[in-house]
This record gives sequence, C-alpha cells and structure tokens, in this order.
Amino acid sequence: MPLYGGIEGGGTKFVCAIGTGPDDIRAEIRFDTGAPAETLAQVATFFSEHQALGPLSAVGIASFGPIDPDPTSARFGYVTTTPKPGWAHTDFAGAVHSMLRVPVGFDTDVNVAALGEHRWGAARELDTFVYLTVGTGIGGGAMANGALIHGVMHPEMGHIRVPHDLALDPYPGHCPYHGDCLEGLCCGPAIEERWGVPSENLAPDHPAWELEARYLASGVMNFLLTLAPQRIIMGGGVMHQQQLFPMIRRYVLELLNGYLQAERVIADIDNYILPPGLGDRAGVLGAIALAEGVHRCELPALDRAGV
Ligand code: ZN
Repeated sequence: MPLYGGIEGGGTKFVCAIGTGPDDIRAEIRFDTGAPAETLAQVATFFSEHQALGPLSAVGIASFGPIDPDPTSARFGYVTTTPKPGWAHTDFAGAVHSMLRVPVGFDTDVNVAALGEHRWGAARELDTFVYLTVGTGIGGGAMANGALIHGVMHPEMGHIRVPHDLALDPYPGHCPYHGDCLEGLCCGPAIEERWGVPSENLAPDHPAWELEARYLASGVMNFLLTLAPQRIIMGGGVMHQQQLFPMIRRYVLELLNGYLQAERVIADIDNYILPPGLGDRAGVLGAIALAEGVHRCELPALDRAGV
C-alpha cells in the first residue's frame, strides 16, 4: 500500500506527518518555523528518522505564501514574496524533492486544507466550496467543479475590501499592504491591537465578537455571491471561538436580505457555514491527500525529471 508524507509549512509552525489518512498517521512532529535552512533541516531529520516505516510514494506540501503553484513555471514550488525573514524566493518543494527523491505536490496551505476537507472532512461529496482560515492572517482556498482554484497566482481571499465604518470602529487595520482589508480588520493580531487583549482572552460575550462576525460575514457574503460555493468551511485559531458561527450565519442572512433563493443557504445555513470536519488537522491531512493525488497522477508535482 502506498505511504505518503505530508508537510504543513505554516508561518509560525511546521507539521510533518507520514501515513495514508486521518486514521493512519504513523509518525508526526510539530516545530516552530525558523529560518529556511534550519527548518528544512528539521524536515529532513524527521523523514530520515522514520525511514523504517517504508518508502514514501509521494509528498505533499501545504505552504504559507505567497507561493508559485504553477507547475509550468520555472519557479513552481517556491515561496515567493513573503515578508517572513529569509523565506522570500525559497525553493521549498525543490529542497524537499532533493532530500526525499519522490514526487512533491505543492500548493497554498488553504488550498491544501480545502483538499483535505474534500477528501475526508466537511466537503466530501461536494465539488465547489470555499475553505477560509482566520488566525494570524486570513486566507481562503477554493475548489470549483472538482479542481482547486489557481489562476495567474492563487486566491488571496483575506485581502478583499469589506465595509469599514470608521465611526463605529476607528481601528485603522493591521495589513501592511492595505490597512483595513478583511485580514487587516479581522485577523487575530488585529483583534488584539483593537482591544488590547489577545483574542483568546476575550469573553465569548465581548462586543469584539459581534464586530468580528460582521466583518467576516461581509467576506463570506462576497465569496458566496462570487463563487456560488456549496459550502463555506471556516477554520483557524480565531474560529475556535464557536460563538462566532451563529453570529456569522445571522449576519450573512441579514446581508443577503432575501435576495438569494438557494434553499441550501437559507434553509440550512447551519450546515452551510461550518467548522472544518478535520479541525486543526485539515492542513497536514490535506498534505497527505495532496501526496495521494500526486501518486495517482491526478495532481501536478515536482518529480525526478524536474517539473
Ligand atoms: Zn491586505
């Protein structure tokens, strides 16, 4: 039976795993993301120490970004213009391929989490859906008609504009590029800056959450109207605040204002906007699913011949 490697390369944490799916993870490690050389050496050590588990058929990487996910590009597999120190223009997939000598699949952390949700989580049986993560930043991945969305690059759903009432919320926003884009208004660090307390320390009935839900609902409304997804999955550290879900659903219905007649949204909104079926494991399990898709030749990879 094929065995796969998965790497969730986040801006703050790396998770590496070996296995075949959620019920069969045979080894796993988590460590802080440091400089590329040091971090990739830790990845190499993990896989080298677990060689006895058997040869890997493929490896999948879920990477923080921005990245180059275009398999026809000479820079496929690179982290590109990230402000994260040392990581800009790093050949992430190439380094993993050099160390493991197996085909390497590569995509954004959120697209890969979407793939994991499609394979084993809250998006099984669906072919068009959105996966949003709300944490240190905000990112979105999406599958449309059974394929993860890429275009000239990859979706950057966190940086859309949403209405910002400065009289109600004078906070200028956290995004270094746009100020008060969705991520700038709603990511974990924005909540902390606005209220002076880390978001996890705010009580569930703190007004911070109503404001957060309103902004997130505006984002959800835009994705809903643009992509017509069959479901919107919301994960990430901020979404551990379970009280956000009913508020977001209520605001989305308010914003739609009766316009949309799709029964699946209106009548069953509790199953339309919901947490990931794989919880915080969507990223690393998605990386295993990506490796599986590569092994089955359903998804592109960096392979022995180059790209
Ligand atoms: Zn932004």
